Amino acid sequence: MTQLVWFRNDLRVSDHEALFQALNRAKQQQTPVRALFFWSDAQWRSHGAGDAKIAATFSALQALHQKLAKLGIPLDVLSVSWWTECAEQMVNYCQSHQITAIHYHTEPGWNELRRDDRVAQQLSKSVELHRYHDLYFIDPAHHLTQQGQVYKVFTAYKKSLLRQFSIDHLATFPPRKAGPALKVSPLAMKDLPNWQNPLQLPVTEDQALTRLDAFCEEVRDYADRRDFPADNGTSQLSAALALGCTSSRQVAHTLHRHHISLASDTFFSEIIWRDFYKYLLFHTPRLCLGEPYNEKWDAFPWQKNETWLERWREGKTGVPIVDAAMRQLRETGWMHNRLRMVTGMYLVKILQQDWRQGEAWFAEHLADFDFAANNGGWQWVASTGVDAVPYFRIFNPYQQSKRFDPNGQFILTFVTELNDVKPALLHDHKRALSVSSYPKPLTDYSKARQDTLDKFKALGSHA
Ligand code: FAD
Repeated sequence: MTQLVWFRNDLRVSDHEALFQALNRAKQQQTPVRALFFWSDAQWRSHGAGDAKIAATFSALQALHQKLAKLGIPLDVLSVSWWTECAEQMVNYCQSHQITAIHYHTEPGWNELRRDDRVAQQLSKSVELHRYHDLYFIDPAHHLTQQGQVYKVFTAYKKSLLRQFSIDHLATFPPRKAGPALKVSPLAMKDLPNWQNPLQLPVTEDQALTRLDAFCEEVRDYADRRDFPADNGTSQLSAALALGCTSSRQVAHTLHRHHISLASDTFFSEIIWRDFYKYLLFHTPRLCLGEPYNEKWDAFPWQKNETWLERWREGKTGVPIVDAAMRQLRETGWMHNRLRMVTGMYLVKILQQDWRQGEAWFAEHLADFDFAANNGGWQWVASTGVDAVPYFRIFNPYQQSKRFDPNGQFILTFVTELNDVKPALLHDHKRALSVSSYPKPLTDYSKARQDTLDKFKALGSHA
């Protein structure tokens, strides 16, 4: 008679509804609790994840193992190549450990839903299954417009969420010791990717909560500082949030404890963007299959230029801000939000490459890779998404760097070959940079922009 918590992208013990409920049961029934995680390298890589995300997952898992051990809960990690193997492994696991109930959080996503359905089919007759909608502020199945439709506009979604949302009624799920403790063995893993986390992004629960608390001290400046990549003005909590080392609820409660008004806070609004993209994925799992929300703009005649794509990936496009950002991504496993938009727009709207190529590259290199946020971001950039940027609003990377990196401080951190160039020249696409070690721009910015606009216009008039 044992309760099982099945962990996935929720690698924390505090504010974890499934763990909380399993512990409650264990207390009532005086039964032990075990925890399980499926390590699925091949499956994750097939979803696009790379070394940074996988190494970060291991750090989070290791820390979770220690936290659970203190509660007398052993965490077992079962390796599977593909999630299709989970059901059979779960059946065997439940038999060998006398599992009577499994507690877990639902996840949106095509393969995730199928994985969970298969496990449910195999086990629903022999084991109680308890699923919780822990990811969202409001259960997405019931969060609809007055006409019963799925929200497609962020501001309306946010307004409705804030209207229904009350911090006093927002649950917390503190863990507490319950039931008899079990023996815990060390967590042994082999063949882990080597990623050093050069920015020291928080990737464990303790690191995330410490960062969140510290960030709340400076969050009042967030709206003014968040667009300047040389300034450390954002939280860098994205990897921790993507791994579930902390939750949106914990962010809300921590901001509230620091007397920040959630309704007007810009940082909290970003947390709602995260919620919104997960909500869209919940209602549209086919997005995992590479499909656009808006097919009209996806009919754009993308160019297939491998050389340009490779130069973009390497940070050798000849546009300083784009190159600095792309190098930041490769070297650190993270990129500043404004630059995700700038580099994305440059790839899609100036080099005219299919947004899915950019999406895949980001997925492979981001430690914070999160399918919903990444796909949402790329579809926003490509104008194929729900509430995406209109096709004619194309960020000019030179104006962006002039505005948000005026002294070139960020650019020169990553594009050191331009160290001797005057800052003003870094933002001027009309004057060529005469540095032999730095590439010339791949294409004429103004002409390419006009060509893209013409192609979009033509698409619009055919609709
Ligand atoms: P902060 O500014 O401190 O924001 C706090 C948190 O809010 C973030 O950690 C993140 O969880 C959430 N958030 C902020 N902005 C967004 C947003 N636009 N959409 C969704 N959530 C947001 N974010 C990811 O977590 N994973 C991704 O794979 C990802 N890919 C992206 C791809 C593109 C093309 C674009 C434009 C954006 C992408 N984002 C992604 C969103 C955003 O860029 C990052 O969340 C943010 O830069 C992370 O830095 P931070 O933690 O300092 O953010």
